[in-house]
Amino acid sequence: MPGSFKTEAVVLRSIRYAEADRVLHLYSREHGRLNAIAKGSRRPRSRFGGRLEPFFRLDLVLYRGRGELATVTAAHTVDAHPHLRGSGLALGAAARACDAMLRLLDSTEPNPAAYNLLCRYLALLDGDEPPSDRSPAIPEIDGAAASELRPDDRSHRSLATALAFRLKLALAAGFSPELASCARCGEADEVSGFSPDAGGVVCAACERGGFELSREAHSFMVEAIGSPLAATPAGSPRALRQVERAVTETLEHHAHVHLRAAA
Ligand SMILES: [Zn+2]
Repeated sequence: MPGSFKTEAVVLRSIRYAEADRVLHLYSREHGRLNAIAKGSRRPRSRFGGRLEPFFRLDLVLYRGRGELATVTAAHTVDAHPHLRGSGLALGAAARACDAMLRLLDSTEPNPAAYNLLCRYLALLDGDEPPSDRSPAIPEIDGAAASELRPDDRSHRSLATALAFRLKLALAAGFSPELASCARCGEADEVSGFSPDAGGVVCAACERGGFELSREAHSFMVEAIGSPLAATPAGSPRALRQVERAVTETLEHHAHVHLRAAA
């Protein structure tokens, strides 16, 4: 039905269109994935100013006519995330998060868990969230050699948080891996592998077709899902690589989407 409606949304992608317009790919709180056109927004004195850029969180008034695209009639900034743009690391992480939203959530059904997760992650990347009191030290578990630890602790923390975001996003999208017991036979005590095909952790007897998952990687996934993003646990590089493979391949198998590398 044609008409105006209000929604809060994050700009996932902003594409130049025609002479002076932009097409926005949005993830909204009330209407899930939306595409909208902002006419004249690239003119120097546009009433939209610079706020139709990726990662802006906006209060929008949109008009839906007969076409596929809604039209932006008003846009007010809820959060511009200005600090995020000053850091290459944060910018890259925000871009990958928005890309994951685009690939994984294409429905116009609202998904408040996914929307709130994206908002919290962008705020964290922008530095609004108080730092976690969890130790940033990287534990040396499962025989990870000291030489394997990356010298850049910050990018390592950033990878752990990016993977926590992906795990929570998979959960919000309905594709969370089974972590409590073997995804094939239900054995709970001795899981040692991960099977993207089975969609979760597997025991030694069921590991065929899967790959090794260390105890550390398994605990990281369980803890990351259960903790706020800002309190994401640390993990050795080896464990984080296994976690990334587990999440990425689960989504390939079950959601048929391929996500870009997490960092
Ligand atoms: Zn099993």
